[in-house]
Amino acid sequence: LIYLDHQATTPVDPIVLDAMLPFFSGDFGNASSHHLAGRRAALAVDDARDSVGALIDGRPSGVVFTSGATEANNLVLQGAAGYEVGRPNVVVCRTEHLSVLDTVAAMAKSGTELTLVDVDTDGRINLDDLRAKVTTRTALVSVMLANNEIGTVAPVAEIADIAHASGALFHCDATQGVGRLPISVRASEIDFLTLSAHKLYGPKGVGAVHVSRRGQAVIEPIIHGGGHERGLRSGTLNVPGVVGLGRACEVAGSVLGVEEPELERLAGRLHAGVMGVGDVILNGPISDRLPGNRSYCFGGVDGEDLLLRMPQLAASTGSACSSASPAPSHVLLAIGRSYDEALSALRFGVGRFTTEQEIDRAVILVTDAVRAARSESLPARN
Ligand code: PMP
Repeated sequence: LIYLDHQATTPVDPIVLDAMLPFFSGDFGNASSHHLAGRRAALAVDDARDSVGALIDGRPSGVVFTSGATEANNLVLQGAAGYEVGRPNVVVCRTEHLSVLDTVAAMAKSGTELTLVDVDTDGRINLDDLRAKVTTRTALVSVMLANNEIGTVAPVAEIADIAHASGALFHCDATQGVGRLPISVRASEIDFLTLSAHKLYGPKGVGAVHVSRRGQAVIEPIIHGGGHERGLRSGTLNVPGVVGLGRACEVAGSVLGVEEPELERLAGRLHAGVMGVGDVILNGPISDRLPGNRSYCFGGVDGEDLLLRMPQLAASTGSACSSASPAPSHVLLAIGRSYDEALSALRFGVGRFTTEQEIDRAVILVTDAVRAARSESLPARN
């Protein structure tokens, strides 16, 4: 299998797995227990907290571990949006991940006033539209660092300034960007940054939110219980998962700046090959995008059909597919693609262990699949 779906998930790096293994059975203690076994687990959790904090230039004490980015986004949005009477409004970008959009849509049913901000044809947030929509009635602005479908990177420091100018707090879902792009919660003044281990060669089912001092003063838990994670997220910590996240952050920090040029070299090779098939549009900007990510609309074909023609290649359609009816991606519609164009999309994500041979093989598979699909659909078009 040629795995080019690193925006969906990444394999656990062997270095990360090695760090996790002792905490399943040897050092199995509950990090909240006061005996030696518990203290050993707690020390490992503390180290992981330091490593997560270091990668995003944050305070270790600001790191709250969760079950992933979906939970972290829910915690921020539900836990912080209602912090002040007179600020019923939440402003989010149209192209956010569904773990943000569906959460705010649910909140809108119980009184939150939801405002969506537009993007341009490359998926870049319209800062004038944002400035116009953020007011002194806004509690929270939520914009992702890098888009998971089309790789557009947001100017987070500018967005934070716009939010703060009206007294609102800024949440950045940095799930796709952390480990691939440099990010500093301090320099960009991000009040809440959310991330997930399985997007940076760590395990699935663990993530974190970094909460600024200002954020800490207002956020309330959404999961109640034993008061773990300074009361913000109750529940026994997933110690092996947390250790894995910490180690994944250390590795990501050590290769940051070195790995991305290689991801981009491979993605550029893929791009040159894929464009050769003709009638292809790149989704998202040509440069300054999430390293390794490319998304295309292939004229006259269906993305699901293409994937079925290439079982040896793991890529993804741009569609949010429910089992019965594939719906076109809200991101592709937001950047102005038609319904049919949006259903013709494929997303590729190059990763740490991708080889040049795999890219070359993928180009042949994609080219053959597109040509075959187009030739079969010709009679129907005439
Ligand atoms: N936000 C973004 C931008 C994502 O890409 C994802 C994963 N697809 C999530 C949130 C959800 O992360 P998790 O799988 O950890 O819940």
